[in-house]
Amino acid sequence: MTEKIVLKNIDIPGSETIEVYLSHGGYQALEKALSSLKPAELIEEVKKSGLRGRGGAGFPAGLKWSFVPRQTGKSIYLVGNADEGEPGTFKDRQIIEKDPHLLIEGIIISSYAIGAHQAYIYIRGECVKGAGVLEKAITEAYEKGYLGKNILNKGYDLDLYLHRGAGSYVCGEETALLESLEGKRGTPRLKPPFPASVGLFQSPTVINNVETLANIPDIVLKGAKWFAGIGKKGNTGTKIFAVSGQVNRPGVYELPLGTPLREIIYQWAGGIREGKKLKAVMPGGSSTPVITPEEIEVSMDFDSLTALGTMLGSGAVIVMAEGTCMVKTTRMLTGFYAHESCGQCTPCREGVRWMEKILARIEKGEGRQEDPDLLLDICDNIKGITLCPLGDAAAMPIESLVRKFREEFEYHIREGRCPGS
Ligand code: SF4
Repeated sequence: MTEKIVLKNIDIPGSETIEVYLSHGGYQALEKALSSLKPAELIEEVKKSGLRGRGGAGFPAGLKWSFVPRQTGKSIYLVGNADEGEPGTFKDRQIIEKDPHLLIEGIIISSYAIGAHQAYIYIRGECVKGAGVLEKAITEAYEKGYLGKNILNKGYDLDLYLHRGAGSYVCGEETALLESLEGKRGTPRLKPPFPASVGLFQSPTVINNVETLANIPDIVLKGAKWFAGIGKKGNTGTKIFAVSGQVNRPGVYELPLGTPLREIIYQWAGGIREGKKLKAVMPGGSSTPVITPEEIEVSMDFDSLTALGTMLGSGAVIVMAEGTCMVKTTRMLTGFYAHESCGQCTPCREGVRWMEKILARIEKGEGRQEDPDLLLDICDNIKGITLCPLGDAAAMPIESLVRKFREEFEYHIREGRCPGS
């Protein structure tokens, strides 16, 4: 049995209520933090735990907190990023809908650590159920004295607001999220300055993913050393893997970072449907470069996947079996990114839509011999030069799909049809 941190309560009936949360040790970490730890000590503890952001970038959470300047005279804000919109990703939803107080407790402790007195949860607009659950949980937390003025009589004040997005993928990017939260069109800002110094309302702001924040209460209660003992060096703790696609048991699995991909697919998710062979896997959501069956011994952690030329991303494992058309898959992915591009920078706005058109003609049997190389050339002219990571997110998987399944693209172009049809 593997140790669970962020999904430990979700199978308990009524887990979303404050009564059940309290009966399972809820808000004890907050009591401990406010009673016996100074903000700087909390930051140090989270640094020592090695917790890295679970939203995709994997940046050390404690280090991010330590960047916040305390003496600017401006308000400091904490934002919980619940704008979960990456295709294949459905991990934060489990915490939001089934254990909202774990997230709220994590937010209160984190806000205390960075010196924030106002915090926000920015939730994806489509998550109607989750928003309702969170609204109720926030009300419960105010009623019990965990939010508001003089929390637990410790002299610390915090207000928490829930803000619903309007359904834009790019608002998961932290600066676009901030623009949206300020009531503007959700388009990414040029960085630097980074939000830690110039964030919400031009003030110091920390933005943490839901899963990251949900780890905080246990780190406070059980200690950094305990947390650092789970997973691998430099990749500590557990991770929620959201497994989808052609597996027998799609779902969410919380496992130590470093669990082999083969184990996740064949042991936890029950292997490939209908006894088919594995064809490809996107290991961290739709924006991560694809890996092939020969590569699935890889450890699912930030560093091992980077070394393999891909990324852990959000931990959304998308499994494709033999018979999956890679041209159609690539065209559908590209269509998503073309639709979600905010249009601010030319390579992303024009390049991704151009690639969608090329892929559509290959899929229709009207591809040209030069198209695979043209796709790679366009990817080269998007990667690393756009204002936000959406450009890379669109180009990197396309590049890997064309490189690793090039013969399939060439077959489509030569024969005018899919090899599987
Ligand atoms: Fe907008 Fe795309 Fe540029 Fe990001 S990369 S700012 S989504 S146009």
